[in-house]
Amino acid sequence: MSDDLFLKIIRREIPADIVYETEHVLAFRDIHPQAPYHVLIIPKQRIATINDMQPEDERLMGRLFTAARELAAEAGFADDGYRVVMNCNAAAGQTVFHVHLHLLAGRPLSWPLG
Ligand code: 5GP
Repeated sequence: MSDDLFLKIIRREIPADIVYETEHVLAFRDIHPQAPYHVLIIPKQRIATINDMQPEDERLMGRLFTAARELAAEAGFADDGYRVVMNCNAAAGQTVFHVHLHLLAGRPLSWPLG
């Protein structure tokens, strides 16, 4: 549990198209985008899944939404709309066990999900 793919991106050990960085948060383009605009927003501190969140992580998790709001506005999607999604564990499709918000925009996004 001491290492994961996204920690390697944070440490610049593997490349990523980084679009946002603060002291606590990093965001980069998804390598397999599901929409014209698809960014992953992660805390620099590792939390594996939503199930592992602690009360003291609430502020940090809120920062992920602040990043989503700022990125969506900067990319011009604030008015048209965008989606943020966080998958938890296998049945929801989580494949990287370092929590991340998917920020998706740039095409009509259907609802309900399949
Ligand atoms: P999950 O399925 O866990 O919700 O989302 C993991 C996401 O990470 C997927 O959308 C996948 O395309 C993305 N991903 C996996 N490996 C890499 C990588 O090495 N670089 C980047 N930028 N994204 C990755």
